[in-house]
Amino acid sequence: MSTSLLYHALGVRGYKYVKTEYVGGEVSFTIEQPRESYCCPVCGSDRVIGRGQSYRRFRTVSIGAKRG
Ligand SMILES: [Zn+2]
Repeated sequence: MSTSLLYHALGVRGYKYVKTEYVGGEVSFTIEQPRESYCCPVCGSDRVIGRGQSYRRFRTVSIGAKRG
């Protein structure tokens, strides 16, 4: 897996690939948002200050025989 494959296989753009984990028959990809792509969710401005981070879980379509 790579940042490029995340984009081409899953349509994930603007995030950096971190790691892959295999848990209970599921494949889990960890990604992170690069600091330079932070922006205000309201007006889109990039003049923002990052305060901490949170984890979100996304479900995706299956890849091959594995459940996503
Ligand atoms: Zn704003």
